[in-house]
Amino acid sequence: MLSRRHFLGALAASSAALAAGCTAHRLRPSTTAPTITSLPPVELGVIPPPHPGVPSTIVHGPAGTRQVAWTVDDGIDPGCVASYVAFAQRSATSLTFNPNGYLAVNWQPHAPVLRDLIAAGQVQIGNHTFSHPNLLTLSDQAVADEIERNETWIENTFGVTARPWLRPPYGYHDDRTDAIAGELGYTKIMMWNGSFGDSTPISSTQLLGLAIQYLEPGTIMIGHANYPTIEPLFGQILGIIHQRGLEPVTLDQMFGTSRAVG
Ligand SMILES: [Zn+2]
Repeated sequence: MLSRRHFLGALAASSAALAAGCTAHRLRPSTTAPTITSLPPVELGVIPPPHPGVPSTIVHGPAGTRQVAWTVDDGIDPGCVASYVAFAQRSATSLTFNPNGYLAVNWQPHAPVLRDLIAAGQVQIGNHTFSHPNLLTLSDQAVADEIERNETWIENTFGVTARPWLRPPYGYHDDRTDAIAGELGYTKIMMWNGSFGDSTPISSTQLLGLAIQYLEPGTIMIGHANYPTIEPLFGQILGIIHQRGLEPVTLDQMFGTSRAVG
């Protein structure tokens, strides 16, 4: 069940990533720490009210930026979740996690560390729905329930709202699901224009090839904490980012949204 769902997710990621058409670069690994765009600290536990509005679909960063947004979805593999959290801690790399509440057992052990990184503005949490359904197949009420149930879990676990950022599972969304999200304060539909291709198992060579292909100025990169493939590659991926003069940021940093506003 999971593998089929995530296989479909890989197809969605592939088709979205194909549109990017980026140029390949030479790979030179590096362990240098990235530059961080600082944000005011977030006061955990203070949840701003929803701001319903017209939703917009976000696929890439603003023109002219050197920023890249590294986003990490799901959390099926507890070891990969732990590795990502440790990587965030040791490298100070800005990351946006989009966890599903049905995988809470894999995220909960890291909540204290993640809360500190969230408070510092280095890590952001987006809403990826509670149980990772294809929203297009659900009733209006069920779409709202999936979003709100995950929002509640995120608030209780991490002390922040995920609003206004929703990543629809598999990237499947339409005007109807976007409108439901917008009414709940989820006015930014987080898509992507680059992918590590790791919602299903792939080789290290394939994953690094996709990193080389897609990490460009303004890329919103999608990755998954579902398989261990990426764990030994974090340093090389950071090397690509640094070699190209890119700055890893959260969606908040890239688009000026804030956990204090929601
Ligand atoms: Zn997902």
